[in-house]
Amino acid sequence: MRTKQNFSRRNQPVACRMCGKLTTWSDVNGFVGLALCKPCFDAATLENGHFDGAHEVYPQRDCPHCIEKQKQQARAATLAGDYERQGAALRVLEQIWGDHAAAQAFYTELEGLRRG
Ligand SMILES: [Zn+2]
Ligand SMILES: [Zn+2]
Repeated sequence: MRTKQNFSRRNQPVACRMCGKLTTWSDVNGFVGLALCKPCFDAATLENGHFDGAHEVYPQRDCPHCIEKQKQQARAATLAGDYERQGAALRVLEQIWGDHAAAQAFYTELEGLRRG
């Protein structure tokens, strides 16, 4: 009886407050009133983790803040002519991306920065 009552009021889709897509995800998953779809909830969780320092030791592959932070460090090191720091940042980026070609392309971009 109780179960039936709980399901008698259907979760109405609401507009996700980050992307605007209609979603029932947060209500269905116990985050009533949060108004977030699953991808936006995951993104927000990742972002919270980043700013709580959870990515400090192990930068996260799908965290745009981690990637941006390493890119900024690499750029700053390049402009300062500090190749040790540049190399370190590039190695972290290569690890995050898991892609040597992407790191190589970014290195080329950095070299352009130095010349420009
Ligand atoms: Zn969303
Ligand atoms: Zn992060």
